[in-house]
Amino acid sequence: APAEDPLVVVNAHGLPYLDARLPVRRRVADLVSRMSLAEKAGQMTQAERNALKAPGDIAGYGLGSLLSGGGSVPTPNTPEAWAAMVDAYQLRTRATRFQIPLIYGVDAVHGHNNVIGATIMPHNIGIGAGRDPELAARTGAVTAKEVRATGVPWDFAPCVCVTRDERWGRSYEAFGEDPALVTAMETVINGMQGARNGKDLDRNDKVLTSAKHFVGDGGTAFGSSTTGSYTTDQGVTRVSRAELEAVHLAPFAEAVKRGTGTVMPSYSSLDVLGDDRGPVKMHANAEMINGVLKDRMGFEGFVISDWQAIDQIPGDYPGDVRTSVNAGLDMIMVPTNYQEFTRTLTAEVEAGRISTARIDDAVARVLTQKFRLGLFEKPYADTTHLPSIGSPGHRAVAREAVAKSQVLLKNEGAVLPLKPTQKVYVAGSNADDLGNQAGGWTISWQGASGRTTTGTTILEGMRKAAPGADIAWSKDASAPTDGYEVGVVVVGETPYAEGFGDVGNGHDLELSPADKAAVDKVCAAMPCAVLVVSGRPQLIADRLPAVDALVASWLPGTEGDGVADVLYGTRPFTGRLPVTWPRSEAQLPVNVGDSSYDPQFPYGWGLTTLTPTPSGGERALRAVRVAAEVLRTAGRGRSAEGRGLVETARLIVQDKIGQDITEAVAKPFAEADHLLLTGDPAGAIGKLTEAYRAAG
Ligand code: BGC
Repeated sequence: APAEDPLVVVNAHGLPYLDARLPVRRRVADLVSRMSLAEKAGQMTQAERNALKAPGDIAGYGLGSLLSGGGSVPTPNTPEAWAAMVDAYQLRTRATRFQIPLIYGVDAVHGHNNVIGATIMPHNIGIGAGRDPELAARTGAVTAKEVRATGVPWDFAPCVCVTRDERWGRSYEAFGEDPALVTAMETVINGMQGARNGKDLDRNDKVLTSAKHFVGDGGTAFGSSTTGSYTTDQGVTRVSRAELEAVHLAPFAEAVKRGTGTVMPSYSSLDVLGDDRGPVKMHANAEMINGVLKDRMGFEGFVISDWQAIDQIPGDYPGDVRTSVNAGLDMIMVPTNYQEFTRTLTAEVEAGRISTARIDDAVARVLTQKFRLGLFEKPYADTTHLPSIGSPGHRAVAREAVAKSQVLLKNEGAVLPLKPTQKVYVAGSNADDLGNQAGGWTISWQGASGRTTTGTTILEGMRKAAPGADIAWSKDASAPTDGYEVGVVVVGETPYAEGFGDVGNGHDLELSPADKAAVDKVCAAMPCAVLVVSGRPQLIADRLPAVDALVASWLPGTEGDGVADVLYGTRPFTGRLPVTWPRSEAQLPVNVGDSSYDPQFPYGWGLTTLTPTPSGGERALRAVRVAAEVLRTAGRGRSAEGRGLVETARLIVQDKIGQDITEAVAKPFAEADHLLLTGDPAGAIGKLTEAYRAAG
């Protein structure tokens, strides 16, 4: 009893849960003990703000959470309007018995991407190419600061998926195809939540993260769909138990270790080879959610369903509710039928088909995060950092991330970097299109072409980088090409989110006919660099011989300046492929570690334009030798540590030896990476030795 405990400070209402000085655990226990079943069901419910039948339903149903689905934005779509909108919803919770604040969630998957004027980061595939965990953390910190300033304490990010088939329309949401790379980039979680494992969450510049989508979302097979023959999205992931562990579960173990406050299950089904149950929808997968995520990994946060995902569980609606909650889901993104959901959940508990213990556990998990976020003390937006949204400081971080994400795949005749005095002919669909370079999940769910927000296109960035230079622009390369010294053709995809992607251009990885024509025309007329702005590799094999320089630019976001920085050599190219670049569609899926591996460019490939420094050679050689030595003595075939050493060695080689020699060194390094993944450390040592000789 609270009164007998000297630690309990009685507040105005006399209720311990409102006392911020008590440990969260105590506050949660106190509050749960007071709540009715209806109140508990409400806390487990998340509705979409546009689906509210009446504002009073927030209090009426005691809703635990609201979300803005992609593109569900206030009018006008300004940071101030966001803060006011969230506050107005929050105000409604004051009319409930315990005044439990709601937790508002958004998909800020590359910056606060729903808000006009916010800093838009490169999509995750570019962050993976950058391979800089510290920078990844800083992008997360910028995102969190912009999101929290608008009163939103919860972000459905990061996607810690491992993309294994780039026909998947969410490939760009992944950091890459290698679980070691994905895991290394999860520093972004601490950038968002703070370094002190949840203890910073009440700060006005931190948000709760959601590692998604658990588990195997990136492993769904083309053609193995339950809903059609072309589904890699929301399809079935068929893997051995060993592959499930090493490839798809490992990033979630890391996310749990880093303290992610929430985890979102995947729409997909999991079919573990040798398990005779067949495909099981992840939202119904008790073995994985209760067994692996919560029990084995020790995840203490809460599990939030994906959008309407429980409806995909076979059977009737009460069955969907029962199965998902009993599988370990703590809050359900309903998002429209919240009335039916709370009614059904209550009925299932009353009928004894969901235990009270399960409900209490779910509610305790949700409340724990609300307490940690400080929402009971400060339910309304702290707008201190509103002016930081889209600020020069934040854009500088994005620009740095963009520059680091650029992967130089080919550079014959050292076309790149450009010289500021050169006459440049710029063409292609994505050279001057802010919406295209930002991709999906930008202002609207699917994203859109054109000037959808504030930022700098690649063409604009180039003109800023080389003021006074003759930079001509002809999207379809229809203007005369004569007299120009170098061509830059920026091709690629138009925005999309989920599904197969780029449906307008067909869901294959082909460039559009217009882009192909622009490449053909410009590259026939002059030395040319082709930049591919896309969420995944595009097929280029037939044109590669005519292309002098090739750059994978991914989806850089609002800071086209970052692309211009590497084009003009203000910053060096250092990015490396986070996914394998295939030769043809027939090769898919193709991933590092495959037995017959013969891609266009291997995983990890990337040239650099760093200039040589005389003293660096020796350091590089030593690094290569140390990496090889450690691998030899410790036999660390697949270990992250062994591969980390190879990575370090390679970066030193790149940094210190530079452009001339790097191509010769880069190839054996990429091959060593590959051999390490396939569990052949001896072969890797051989390759490293080759690199060592090339460097010497
Ligand atoms: C996506 C999730 C997202 C959710 C909420 C779903 O369609 O799969 O990644 O968090 O929508 O917008």
